[in-house]
Formats: sequence, C-alpha cells, structure tokens
Amino acid sequence: MKNYTSMDHFWMPFTANRAFKAAPRIIERAEGIWLYADDGRKILDATGGLWCVNAGHGRQKIADAIAQQAMKLDYSSPFNLGHDIGFEFAERLVKYTPDNLNRVFFTNSGSEAVESALKIALAYQNARGKKGKYRFIGREKAYHGVNFGGISVGGLTPNRKGFGPLLPADHLPHTLDLQRNAFSKGLPEQGIEKADELANLLQFHDPDSIAAVIVEPISGAGGVVLPPIGYLKKLRELCTKHDVLLIFDEVITGWGRLGASFASNRFEVEPDMITSAKGITNGTVPLGAVFVRDEICDTVINAAPEGAIEFFHGYTYSAHPIACAAGLATMDIYDEEGLLERAGGEIGAYWQESLHSLQGEPGIVDVRNYGLIGAVQFAAPDGSLVGPKIMQRCYEKGMSVRAVGDIIAFSPPLIIEKEHIDQIVETLSAIAREMFA
Ligand code: PLP
Repeated sequence: MKNYTSMDHFWMPFTANRAFKAAPRIIERAEGIWLYADDGRKILDATGGLWCVNAGHGRQKIADAIAQQAMKLDYSSPFNLGHDIGFEFAERLVKYTPDNLNRVFFTNSGSEAVESALKIALAYQNARGKKGKYRFIGREKAYHGVNFGGISVGGLTPNRKGFGPLLPADHLPHTLDLQRNAFSKGLPEQGIEKADELANLLQFHDPDSIAAVIVEPISGAGGVVLPPIGYLKKLRELCTKHDVLLIFDEVITGWGRLGASFASNRFEVEPDMITSAKGITNGTVPLGAVFVRDEICDTVINAAPEGAIEFFHGYTYSAHPIACAAGLATMDIYDEEGLLERAGGEIGAYWQESLHSLQGEPGIVDVRNYGLIGAVQFAAPDGSLVGPKIMQRCYEKGMSVRAVGDIIAFSPPLIIEKEHIDQIVETLSAIAREMFA
C-alpha cells in the first residue's frame, strides 16, 4: 500500500470509515473486468463497480466522446437553453424503452431519478385534478437511493432510521422466501399471492389517496430479491384497475443486466415510468433519467398556462453535455457488441449453472440468479454476521463483491467470459469451505 498523504478528509459514503482506514482497499486503475489495486494485485470486478460498469472498464470510445464533448460544449444551462446532444441522447434513449415511454427527464443519479419520478407522479395527479392522490407505496427491502423521497418509499431500515418524518408511504411485503424458493433458478415459482397485498393496501388507504407504486423489478441493493413468476404483471393489473401509477426503478435492472434493455421489456410489463442511471453511461459520468409515459408528460405540460414553467423541478447538470456524450458512446457499444441481449444467452445460462453448483457448499443457504445478476446467501451456524468477512476474504483472494448482510451479491460486467465465472465460483467455494467446513 502506498503512503497516502492523509485519509482524514474524505468522509466515505456507505463505508465503515474507521475500519476502512485501518485496512484500506485502494484501486488505482481498471480495464475490462479487472481492477488493479495499489499493491499491484489484479481484482476481478464481480459487481461491475456498483452495478454500473456494464460494458467493462476503460472503454476508449467513451473516453474519446467525453474528451471531444468537453472541448466542443463543456456546459450550458438546461433551463431555458437547449443543446443538441441533450435532444439527441433523449431521442436515442427512447428507442430502448417500452412503447409508450418516450419522454426523458434527466437527472445526475439514480437517487435523483427516483425523487424526480415521485414528483412527476404528484405533478401528474395534480394536473389532472386528483390532488388527493399524494401517498406512495414502496416495498420492504427496496432500495431507491438515499434522498428523502427514496428513503420514504425504500424498505431498508438502516437507511430510514433516524431520518424521519418521511413522505407518506406504505410498503408491500418483500418477495424473498427461502423456505419455499431457496435455490430457485431464475424467477421463483412461489409467491405471486404477495402481489395481492397491494389490493389490501390500496383498500386500506383508499386508492384515491395513492399517487404511485414504486418497485424495483429485481432489487439489487436489498440483497437480490427476485419477483415470483407473474408478480409484476399482477401489480400492473392492480395499478391500472385502481388508477394508480406504476414506477419501475430500473437503476440496476436496466441496460442489459437481465438480457434486455430493461426488465420491463424482458418481463413484458409496461410501467408508467422507469428510473434509470448507472449503466446509462457505463458508470463513467454521473447521469440518471426518468422515462415517462407520453400522456403523463403531456398532461403536466398542457395543464400550465402558455408561457409558464410547467414543472418546477430540474438540476443544474440535467442532460450535462459530457454525460450525454458518454451515454451516446455507451449506447453505441451496447449495440455494436450485442451487450443488451448477452445476459439472456449462453453466458447467462452458464452463469446460472455455475452459480448453482455452489448448492451444498458449507454455510450456503441460497443461490439465486437472473440474467447476469446473482446472489449467494450464507448463514453462520452461530447466527453471527459473516457477509463483511466474506467480502474481505473475496478481496484478499482477488475478487470484489458486495455484501448485503450475509448475502454476497454479483452483477459482473456484461462482457464477462466463462473463465471469469469459474473464478468467481471457485473463490466462493474455497471461502465457504475455509470458513464453514
Ligand atoms: N435505485 C436503485 C434500484 C438502486 O439500486 C440505486 C443504487 O444502487 C439507486 C436507486 C440510487 O442510485 P444512485 O446511487 O446513483 O443515487
């Protein structure tokens, strides 16, 4: 490890700062699927950064686009001024979204995309005279970023605790069910009835008070929670029946993670809005977006008097030209290399079979997967928390993963090859035997 001047000034996010500074893990550069640590070690990036580096690290095409855009138009206000690359990127993006989601509201992150989607939902309900629809429904174990709207609809207690009072929101039960679905390959078979809880919640609160339901098609940060077969379709039916908007938070599930541009396409369920970020620029430059059903956007815009601002919301860096340039180059790579479909093909099948070969290893109580997302859940015999230790052992053995409690989560770059998958599985199997045999 190099001798850094000081680590005292950077307050690291979602990190045990004291523990980290006692044993830092410092990455100096990255290429393809590999991170290179400051001690010269090569680390397999089994989480594609933070579920965002879908096309792998160090893509020349994106770097060139960023550099060229920085010299052409580095910045211009998105309020009352336009730039062509913003319009071009929005037009390009909606080629990948479900049929009726053709309007793009740009943000800088997934958290901001969620806040924007919630505000768009309220603006829409107001614009069509349904001011009483002010409440949201999220889900237990959901992660919708860290801003106040996101933690209100989110369902991870540590992220909410101590930050109240929050927005009026209730929560559906999560769909993780190890008793019935452990070691399911792909979507679990049991649990569609959990969608019925939405009917109960809507009745309990009165559907006329609900603006929107927001769910991640597959929750990543909550521990890779998969929807039971038919569950998302059922939510869609209930939302339509009760005149409630449905938002899919696809910050993780978008951009090829599940073998299609979006989970909505893969599962053939069309929400009213999709939130996106991360893979939209391959993680290179911060950018998020909300894809909005045309009628929602038109209703909000047409409700305001001619010449007035219709939606009092936006960011200094909405549609930042450099982020748009990075995003356009990212889309080119996805198309040229067929990356959006790749997880649905042979490599996704190999991923599934390889990951499930861990069934029976000591300490492992579940393996779950879809596309190129996966999780291996551990349980120590004495009930102690082992996830952080496993994450550290993985790093020592040359692999970067995420631990959510005792769940080890994977979302490798979509360029992953079989030999990398073998390394992931061998590393985890060795650790399981070392720690629990
Ligand atoms: N929504 C989901 C589903 C996410 O997984 C995340 C981040 O992991 C976010 C929102 C927040 O995105 P960001 O960290 O870019 O604010």
